[in-house]
Amino acid sequence: MEKIFNNTQVAFELKSDTQLERAYFLFKMIEIQPLVRIGTAVTNFALKAHLPVEGLIRSTVFDHFCGGVSENDCLRVVDNMFTKGVSSVLDYSVEGKEDEKQFDAALDMTIKTIEFAKERLAIPFAVFKPTGFGRFALYQKIGEGKSFTAEEQSEWDRVVARFDKVCQIAHDKDVALLIDGEESWMQEAADDLVTNMMRKYNKEKAIVFNTLQMYRWDRLDYLKKIHALAKAEGFYIGMKLVRGAYMEKENNRAEENGYPTPICATKQATDDNYDAAVVYMVDNIERMAIFAGTHNENSSYRLMELMNEKGLEKNDSRVFFGQLFGMSDNISYNLAAAGYNVAKYLPFGPVRDVMPYLIRRAEENTSVAGQTSRELDLIKKERARRKL
Ligand SMILES: Cc1cc2nc3c(=O)[nH]c(=O)nc-3n(C[C@H](O)[C@H](O)[C@H](O)COP(=O)(O)OP(=O)(O)OC[C@H]3O[C@@H](n4cnc5c(N)ncnc54)[C@H](O)[C@@H]3O)c2cc1C
Repeated sequence: MEKIFNNTQVAFELKSDTQLERAYFLFKMIEIQPLVRIGTAVTNFALKAHLPVEGLIRSTVFDHFCGGVSENDCLRVVDNMFTKGVSSVLDYSVEGKEDEKQFDAALDMTIKTIEFAKERLAIPFAVFKPTGFGRFALYQKIGEGKSFTAEEQSEWDRVVARFDKVCQIAHDKDVALLIDGEESWMQEAADDLVTNMMRKYNKEKAIVFNTLQMYRWDRLDYLKKIHALAKAEGFYIGMKLVRGAYMEKENNRAEENGYPTPICATKQATDDNYDAAVVYMVDNIERMAIFAGTHNENSSYRLMELMNEKGLEKNDSRVFFGQLFGMSDNISYNLAAAGYNVAKYLPFGPVRDVMPYLIRRAEENTSVAGQTSRELDLIKKERARRKL
């Protein structure tokens, strides 16, 4: 497969020299792990103390990784990216709030983004997080086989009703809906719920998408199991394939509680597992749709190769590549220029509420996690090309 991801001119065409310099400065800063640690603590403190730091956060990390504070705010970015063929997934990234009012607000916001998507070619998917619609502890209790109190049962019924409502609206409006994957000890309940939604709303094609975190060694077998079910019952499977974002938390919990970790033993094993799922899904594309959420160039090339071998059009509606806004533009823009379907997650929400999301991005971009050197190398290459 021709190596297309090194073309930094295509990757950064939408960035002015000033924006490129800002990105360079930002990644230089978050490369330094102690700085991220201290910066995170100081920012959290400043926000709690109501110090006026929102402006500073906005003009640095926020603007780099987010589309805006509201869905309307994002449209400028959405339209701009779409001039290069890169689509958006509006991601309401408010996390960690656990009350009924917030769950209903997240539901309303997801419905709003479905309506946005219905009106715009540039937004092919909507998305939500299971714990945005209900308490983590409820999902966990189901996973552990414990029974609910009467009160918990009615609380859970409301979670199921939120899932059902949003999936039905997505189905009726013909907008595909991604459902994020989270920690393994809540995921079993979410998986069962999402599978039920697929059963109900994926009868003609994949509208509802679950997420497979391929750093889990049991996920390929799970995919095969769901596939058997889908064939027997006649529904389509939508899957977002990712490696997984909670590795450290998973390993620590397993060790503390003395059970075998659900995470693959090595990075290579995760990579192999990811690519095996890609192969399995392309082989069975008649019943499946793939959203490959990855910043890994090899996995992206692998999927391009497999599509070619299988004789799929580059823009086959069943295959999407996905990256996060502010990261791996070399993959997104070069894929779009070559004619593939690409969508970037575009997070939005009030600055203080998206902090957990921003902190995760900063942490995964430190020198330890390795992504920064990738981003920095590309920006450096483009700065040199532009003679900045
Ligand atoms: C569009 C999009 C949507 C996403 N949605 C979700 C989601 O719903 N849920 C979710 O959990 N994550 C999600 N992610 C994040 C994703 O799971 C990864 O954390 C991130 O993309 C980095 O992985 P990568 O495939 O880009 O590749 P790489 O950078 O090549 O891989 C890094 C990943 O490999 C794994 N890994 C690293 N070291 C080891 C090791 N020693 N042993 C085993 N495995 C290891 C970890 O998963 C790590 O994140 C999403 C990412 C994108 C781009």
